Amino acid sequence: MIARALAGVVISCAIAIAAWRAGALSRSGAAAAVAVGTAALAAGWSWGALLFVFFVSSTSLSRAQRELKLRRTESVVAKGGARDAMQVLANGGLFALAALTSLVAPAIPCMTIGIGALAAATADTWGTEVGTLSSRAPRLITTWRPVAAGTSGGVTVAGLLASAAGGTVVGVVAWLVHWPPNVAVAAAVGGFSGALADSLVGALWQTKRRCALCESLTERVVHSCGVVTQRIGGISWLDNDSVNVLSGLVGAVVALAVVR
Ligand SMILES: [Zn+2]
Repeated sequence: MIARALAGVVISCAIAIAAWRAGALSRSGAAAAVAVGTAALAAGWSWGALLFVFFVSSTSLSRAQRELKLRRTESVVAKGGARDAMQVLANGGLFALAALTSLVAPAIPCMTIGIGALAAATADTWGTEVGTLSSRAPRLITTWRPVAAGTSGGVTVAGLLASAAGGTVVGVVAWLVHWPPNVAVAAAVGGFSGALADSLVGALWQTKRRCALCESLTERVVHSCGVVTQRIGGISWLDNDSVNVLSGLVGAVVALAVVR
């Protein structure tokens, strides 16, 4: 285990530095990624492989057509570009905790919780990245009203299909690295459920703000035009990172239910 943890530090540093230099992670995001990667590899090579698949697929999808997506969402989303530590931990924190816990606790429940959370992060990221590229306007998951690209809770058919695919790919990789088949199935189901929960919570309770100058809805505290926006609804502390944490929890709980 010590040898794997040491290898984990080296491998995670190499990947995090490359991602930081490519602009995919901020400095703090790279540090958090090293912590998550080391925890995963300490738990086992299969944990590391799963994290690697999440990281590489999500980063590649984020970088595809990046200019177009930034242009479509910049007036709405609070954080674009390099992912910071809060974003990395919101997506990978529960997975890392489950990985470390598996060293001292029964493996199957830890694997199920970890992969459920990771599959939810994968499904959510794939859905967001593919959905933003969709030529159709997203619709709010609750009312089916068209909303601006980047709006939390907005979904497209392409995005939902991508979410289902993202969760399934994590499940297939789990099966390939010889995790139990029921855990692999739980990953696919938990992942898609977590992504749906992310959209639902985003639509219902996430902080909503409005720019008085542009008369547009946004998640940004300072709008792309430079004006400070006002909160007009949602729960004040419920930002995108907290919604991602909740989504991971839903993925883990649903995965546990599937395995039972
Ligand atoms: Zn504005």
